[in-house]
Amino acid sequence: MSTAPPPAPAPEPTPAAPAAPLCAACRVPLQRGFMLDLGYNDQARAAEWVEGAPQPSFWRGLQLDGRLRLPVQSWRCPACGLLAQYAHTPPAEAR
Ligand SMILES: [Zn+2]
Repeated sequence: MSTAPPPAPAPEPTPAAPAAPLCAACRVPLQRGFMLDLGYNDQARAAEWVEGAPQPSFWRGLQLDGRLRLPVQSWRCPACGLLAQYAHTPPAEAR
């Protein structure tokens, strides 16, 4: 005798996806993106926000030691092209 399939589990609430911010001028949702940074050999990576003013470093181009670095979210308005950028502190990095 076949067994009835188990009841479908209740749908779990979707983890809170970050809501798209609205363009202050157009009141339409912004499109998520990121700022491209090309490194050695044009290796693609996402740009980061770095604490403080840029200071030259002979070996690395800019001094980065000991500075807070955060990934940058860049949002674009599809209507007017405005860019809004955010550098949220990750929860694990709370200090
Ligand atoms: Zn806009």
